[in-house]
Amino acid sequence: MNVLVIGGAGYIGSHCVRQLIEAGHNPVVLDNLVYGHKGALLPSVKFYCGNLDDPVLVGKILDDEKIDLVMHFAAYINVGESVRDPIKYYRNNVCGVVSLVETMLNHGVKKFVFSSTCATFGIPAKLPLVEDMPQHPINPYGQTKLDVENFLKNCARAYGLNSVAFRYFNASGAAEDGSIGEDHKPETHLIPLAIFAAMGKGPSLKIFGEDYKTPDGTCLRDYVHVDDLSRAHIAAFDKLNGDGMFLHYNLGTGTPNSVLEIIKGVEDVSGLKVPYEIAPRRPGDPDALFADSTKAKTELAWKIKYTNVRDIIATAWKWHKNNPEGFKD
Ligand code: UDP
Repeated sequence: MNVLVIGGAGYIGSHCVRQLIEAGHNPVVLDNLVYGHKGALLPSVKFYCGNLDDPVLVGKILDDEKIDLVMHFAAYINVGESVRDPIKYYRNNVCGVVSLVETMLNHGVKKFVFSSTCATFGIPAKLPLVEDMPQHPINPYGQTKLDVENFLKNCARAYGLNSVAFRYFNASGAAEDGSIGEDHKPETHLIPLAIFAAMGKGPSLKIFGEDYKTPDGTCLRDYVHVDDLSRAHIAAFDKLNGDGMFLHYNLGTGTPNSVLEIIKGVEDVSGLKVPYEIAPRRPGDPDALFADSTKAKTELAWKIKYTNVRDIIATAWKWHKNNPEGFKD
């Protein structure tokens, strides 16, 4: 299939592009390079620089490249920033998708893969999280993602759009060969920050709270490898053949790991100490979040390759050790 990957130069998008090529598809990338990196793309991948809410550019790409399906990874993802600047988040994460879907429909493209998040659930009433549990996001970031899920449902009924939303748990790790990986500026995620602290590249790691209702007092999260996430996306392509549907899947390994367990994992994998200090809780962090991904495993035959968080950390370590400054752009 000819697949337009919007945000294909970003963290999850660039890994998905590689998996698409491996699976025999033809990815074309649109990215505005505000957060993405040209260096994350193989030179052979066709690249357009621009915004998802530019109907002229997007329409031209859809036509010229005979696009069959659009994948959208170009969202803003920083929870704290979404609280400080909700307009930025609603404009890109919601208005941007409305514009994009309108352009797709105007150009006859009706297959859409959307990156959603476990943050749409808010504070879970029960764990593990199953798809149809209530969604009550507690920050603008999660709310924008839920708004788009609902928008896609309405578009299925009204225009026959076929879409799938994947609710990621904690996307982590890097390509197995260490050639691409996570490079957010600023970095806010636990595994890269723990690795930077071990490498002496950043300050000591701050553990945000040690008084959660968890066995060791630090938060529990479900770390899932970025290549496993990508493979689930591709497995859903065959499902998007109806006259209007909205599918949704939780993607996680189902195994929770605490912040202290991640630190220990980084120390074991790298052979270095992770200097850390205890800091106050980060607002909006639930005690524990982990997925029940039975639905993806059953309906998409999704197989998780990286079931052990140490193996995920090992791929991240390889990337950061070989590329201490990230991408050189
Ligand atoms: N965390 C931490 N220190 C950091 C970054 C994250 O203690 O510098 C904790 C955070 O409170 C959460 C977990 O690590 O419990 C994962 O956070 P991350 O930002 O990586 O992902 P999130 O769960 O927010 O999507």
